[in-house]
Amino acid sequence: MPVSDYAMLEAWKTVLELSRLQSGQTVTVLTGAASHPQTVSTALTAAALMGAVVNRLDLQPVNAEKALSRDALAYLGTTPLTGNRAAIAALKESDLVLDLMTLLFSPEQHEILRSGTKILLAVEPPEVLVRMVPSVEDRARVKAATDRIVRAKVMQVRNDAGTDLTCALGQYPAISEYGFVDEPGRWDHWPSGFALTWPNEGQTQGTIVLSPGDILLPQKSYIRSEIRLVVKDGFAVEIQGGMDADLLSEYVASFNDPEAYAISHIGWGLQPRAHWTTLGLYDREATLGMDARAFEGNFLFSLGPNNEAGGSRTTACHIDIPMRNCTVTLDGEAVVTRGKVQDQERTHA
Ligand code: FE
Repeated sequence: MPVSDYAMLEAWKTVLELSRLQSGQTVTVLTGAASHPQTVSTALTAAALMGAVVNRLDLQPVNAEKALSRDALAYLGTTPLTGNRAAIAALKESDLVLDLMTLLFSPEQHEILRSGTKILLAVEPPEVLVRMVPSVEDRARVKAATDRIVRAKVMQVRNDAGTDLTCALGQYPAISEYGFVDEPGRWDHWPSGFALTWPNEGQTQGTIVLSPGDILLPQKSYIRSEIRLVVKDGFAVEIQGGMDADLLSEYVASFNDPEAYAISHIGWGLQPRAHWTTLGLYDREATLGMDARAFEGNFLFSLGPNNEAGGSRTTACHIDIPMRNCTVTLDGEAVVTRGKVQDQERTHA
């Protein structure tokens, strides 16, 4: 559905106000070859209307010759900022960077955040952005979930298909993604709405059984046949099943990197305006699949790096896998029961 510039400007205004943008602060809009023109123009205008000093920094794409997909999250390697001191300097001097290019998983991004600059990623198409404009309620709910992760020593995940996974926690921080950047040095992604962490290095054990309707990203497909992953000491050591398992297994194998099989972030979705169903409705190349990552009550786990959490694992391969109908417990207490988030006392308080 087309979106009016007015609706996009109003959405940006809400996001920038939630991000505490002050008149006179410097905003840099980071763009690339795939940035959506309406998102770029309305970001520039909305920031200017709030009295900010506004720049646009447009950078060249990289990694096309290595990636198997046009999805920006499908290949994590060097970024357009690698070795680009002038661009890094401009971003570090900004109070707020609106990343409409997709700068993820890079030492350069950490360096910019450490300077106090806030970075907000926003690359979903306008219709997804306006449907999932973040709110203070989103923040409260995600923060409450993150607080529960911080206190936990073990996360367990089960489903009727046979999933039985145990992840030891405590080595890595819990991350809140709620869609705006209200603190110096904060990174977030509009739209989102989920809580996550990374399991302790080498300490995830068990079996994950993906069922029809569970989702593979960046494939952006609903799987049609069961995929069984055996997880030992933090790595998927077997990927078995029918054609869906072959597609996943061969894709990961194409990176020729044993680190690609590591269990990466784990967490659950808390965004009621995100929907499991939308992946079949949008052009696959038009979205990153944030509905799939954020829909309420999913269990989202991934394969790949942990450098985003402060670990040492970097790998170009990153697979996000949102699952339905799982029961997720923290130290034995259910936070999601058969795909239903267990936080009613908090959200209605
Ligand atoms: Fe991920």
